[in-house]
Amino acid sequence: MKYRTLGKTGIKSSILGFGAMRLPLKSQNPEDVDKDETRKMIEYAVENGINMFDTALLYHTSDRSRPGVSETILSENLKDYSDKIHLSTKMPSWNINSWEYFDDTLNKHLKRLQTEQIELFFVHSIKDSYYSSIKEKGLYEFIDRALDDGRIKHVGFSTHGSYELLEQILNDYEKWGFALTQINYLDNEENPGLKGLNKLHKLNIGTMIMEPLRGGQLAQNIPYEIKQIFSKSKIQHTNIEWAFNYLWNFDEINCVLSGMSNLQQVKDNISLVDQSFKLSKNDKQILEEVKEKYKELRNIPCTGCNYCMPCPFGVNIPKCFYEYNMDKLSGSENASIQYRFHLNEDRKAHNCTKCEKCVSICPQSINIPEELKKVETHFGE
Ligand code: SF4
Ligand code: SF4
Repeated sequence: MKYRTLGKTGIKSSILGFGAMRLPLKSQNPEDVDKDETRKMIEYAVENGINMFDTALLYHTSDRSRPGVSETILSENLKDYSDKIHLSTKMPSWNINSWEYFDDTLNKHLKRLQTEQIELFFVHSIKDSYYSSIKEKGLYEFIDRALDDGRIKHVGFSTHGSYELLEQILNDYEKWGFALTQINYLDNEENPGLKGLNKLHKLNIGTMIMEPLRGGQLAQNIPYEIKQIFSKSKIQHTNIEWAFNYLWNFDEINCVLSGMSNLQQVKDNISLVDQSFKLSKNDKQILEEVKEKYKELRNIPCTGCNYCMPCPFGVNIPKCFYEYNMDKLSGSENASIQYRFHLNEDRKAHNCTKCEKCVSICPQSINIPEELKKVETHFGE
């Protein structure tokens, strides 16, 4: 394993972090986590040098009005390793509606993680649209108090918002120790992109990266046109090698979080660290070309995070987008069969009533009702 310092927190973090938002499931229910497989994954990860684990209050919930099971499962499995690992969790910022919310939610985190202090505490997914409102509700007064009384040790934030929002957040508060943003070789220009990464690095704020594989889209079902571009490389790399090494080549990135879903993925990702390499000039050109080609083939940038679920009208939003993307990008006949014959009628795109309940939640800022219309037309409902 390789380690880098997480900015001013001083923590030596493994460059690969274990994200607990896509744990293995025994059924379609996101709370029905396969605990045996998860235990094996965590044991293997710790024994092979991963020391950064990340969860959130709402990971693995089937109802976003109540906490999920990710925090409790992680805390049960990590209790014997507390001297070896670092754990981060996230308080949903989009639900902040009163001063009382802060303490109520932090107390829930502490109870579920069976601890008196959270080492790395994120304000989760701050968006341009409601940042000023959560500030008015007392965000910074709350953080000051929780740092002073020791309930949190270091504070950070995650965002998919604009670069301007990132600057504003950093100007407003000087105690941020670390931040989590989305970068991969397709998403590096905005929200807040490489410019945001440089800004964080200059301020010595620890940098963690999410969605290195864009919810799996950079790992599988790669379109033919993209494979052709990759084949120009002198050394042939796997899709996952391209994606992770793109990120690890930036010295400014301290830790890349990967939401792993089975033991084999944990093993594969750890060997990627051991075999990590410097990208050549030619490799970088190839990735630029790949990015341009993906832009041409433009798909719906859904990462399958499930934040928009459940839809009150039953639409399985991430599944609709996944099959649409698979059909468009790889021409996979299976995608069309999956959508038409294996997705229940009441889960399909045509059930969207455009109520817009999901729109402000999506971290990728997808106009969900509009894109569902595209899916509906594409599959010929
Ligand atoms: S806009 Fe459509 S998909 Fe979104 S919550 Fe409403 S009905 Fe569901
Ligand atoms: S539509 Fe947005 S919120 Fe829903 S799963 Fe996709 S990325 Fe996540």
